[in-house]
Amino acid sequence: MSDRCYAIALLLTAITLVIGGAQAAGGWPFLPPESEAADLVGFNVAACLSWAALAAVARAGRSYDAAAIPLAIATVVLYAVTLAAFTLFTGPFGAPGWVGFLGGAVIGYVLFPRWVSLSGLFLYVALVVGGAVMMAGGRFDGTLLGPAARVVQLDEAAIVRGAVSSLLMSGLTFTIIMWIIDRWRDREARFERLATTDPLTGVANRRLLFDQSKRELARTRRYGTPTSLIIVDLDHFKGINDQYGHLVGDLALTHAATVLGDAIRDADMIARYGGEEFGILLPMTDLDGAFEVAERCRSRLADRPFVADCGSVSITASLGVASTSKDGNVDELLRRADDALLRAKSLGRNRIERG
Ligand code: GH3
Ligand code: MG
Ligand code: MG
Repeated sequence: MSDRCYAIALLLTAITLVIGGAQAAGGWPFLPPESEAADLVGFNVAACLSWAALAAVARAGRSYDAAAIPLAIATVVLYAVTLAAFTLFTGPFGAPGWVGFLGGAVIGYVLFPRWVSLSGLFLYVALVVGGAVMMAGGRFDGTLLGPAARVVQLDEAAIVRGAVSSLLMSGLTFTIIMWIIDRWRDREARFERLATTDPLTGVANRRLLFDQSKRELARTRRYGTPTSLIIVDLDHFKGINDQYGHLVGDLALTHAATVLGDAIRDADMIARYGGEEFGILLPMTDLDGAFEVAERCRSRLADRPFVADCGSVSITASLGVASTSKDGNVDELLRRADDALLRAKSLGRNRIERG
């Protein structure tokens, strides 16, 4: 998230620089007629320096997880304050302000937690409405707020009409956009789930196991923390299919996935590796620890037969365990676990071997 704050801060530094430069050169753009370009230059310099400072802080804080939320809040608040000031300078409820408001709200909603972007939105509306009411009430003589205060002759009734209609319009637009984004996020999450989940058992699929294993092994290489892998192959599963039918076989597989999933910790990961094979990834776990987990998986499977309509189906499994605490890639770890599994099979099944 800090990366996003950095990108936004850089972008707004550039935008305020361009607008400020253009206004200093020729009074362009976004100025009400008859106003003095110089009024906005000072504001743009201040905004530009603030965004540049935030960009520097965001860049420095990029590698600290704890900085992410404070940086997001700082970005949203600075956006709300600078845009509110810009809106008041260029005339409350004018097009540039609302474009910045809706654009900022939508981008904030996509990039930051919902409560952060909504807080910015409310802050902006409060600043603009409060500032506009003060302008209408003559609290600012024009030196503070610049062109809008001098050019836009607003009475309080016009302010209230403008505020209510603008808020209604932007609220409606905002709600529709949020609804579309939420649907899009749901769809994305659904596709992500489909692409990484095994449809029969509901556990992760082979692809996710590989991706996650690669990530863990990168951590192992860097920090030397051990990573272990267990391959579980159900014994004589063909016999279960032959005896009870494929449908019961499918249910027995799902049962095995549930039992195995219950036997591991939250930080571990189980995936369907092949037909009646499962892979279990154990981050920060050495060979002895992995062996203990494998024994828990083996004994729970053996102790908890699958109860089908046609009777109790006992399931056992053979397991191969491999571990690494230095250089190692996924293929090599899998090969060692696989070799151990083959040994467990040849030594009589329903047992565990180390690779
Ligand atoms: P071993 O103890 O040597 O592992 O014997 P096995 O019968 O389990 O091994 P084998 O590799 O000969 O057979 C695996 C069986 O698993 C055959 C296949 O029909 C079954 N199987 C694989 N995927 C599924 C599935 O999704 N559903 C069902 N019902 N059976 C499956
Ligand atoms: Mg097999
Ligand atoms: Mg098998």
